[in-house]
Amino acid sequence: MCDIDLKLICEYYSKIDRQGPGSPEITRKALSFVNGLEPASKIADLGCGTGGQSMELARATEGQVYGLDLFPHFIDIFQKNINASGLQNRLTALVGSMDKLPFQEEELDLVWSEGAIYNIGFEEGLQYWRRFLKKDGYVAVSEASWFSRERPKEIQDFWEREYPGIDTIPNKMAQMQNAGYSLVASFVLPDYCWTENFYKPQISMQDSFLKENEGSKAAQELVESQNFEMRMYEQYKKYYGYAFYIGRKI
Ligand code: SAH
Repeated sequence: MCDIDLKLICEYYSKIDRQGPGSPEITRKALSFVNGLEPASKIADLGCGTGGQSMELARATEGQVYGLDLFPHFIDIFQKNINASGLQNRLTALVGSMDKLPFQEEELDLVWSEGAIYNIGFEEGLQYWRRFLKKDGYVAVSEASWFSRERPKEIQDFWEREYPGIDTIPNKMAQMQNAGYSLVASFVLPDYCWTENFYKPQISMQDSFLKENEGSKAAQELVESQNFEMRMYEQYKKYYGYAFYIGRKI
């Protein structure tokens, strides 16, 4: 992907509150499987985007939350939201890469990542992040998953192109175990996390995005590819979605 594409994608996603499927209730549901957090606990939210779920983690716990993302523009937005939140003493926004973490080994109580671990691969990410967790620390990630063993060719081909790392829930569970965790829980994100919370806000802002980028073929193509993704979801959502996987370091 060239820089200009990345800049456009970044601009597109900056216009909405979330950069992937999810919801505050689902963040809290996943968090309900994590025990023993206290004020001294350290939580890293990797690939936090503009930090929606990092703020939820700060509201729902008493710990220190570090949201990290590769894109400075997302982190700028996150920082503005932190400044307005009254939670400045418990939230830190960091520019960085999830494959080069700025933490000490065994420093973290919880590693969080919603819809972002695919950037370095599910099993690879879980393996690499494990060293930063304290003994008995937790990991919680959401990840694209197949709901059936077989599926129609069109959606299979779509995901082969977009993210070949997508796999069935039992296979993802096995990968979590292979990476050195015991599985605590897994559940599928409900449909509204995609439709209401992720796709609908995109539809609402696409006109203004296209207006701001009038004449840009790349902007037009980006919107078209997002709309294609939405149509795929509508048509094939019984075959795939996001699942949360919560594990504990062993
Ligand atoms: N967790 C957010 C964002 C998910 S989108 C949400 O659910 O709304 C995936 C995010 O991963 C994007 O914000 C993207 O900038 C970030 N990302 C991509 N590669 C990354 C990397 N190597 N390190 C950290 N973040 C990365």
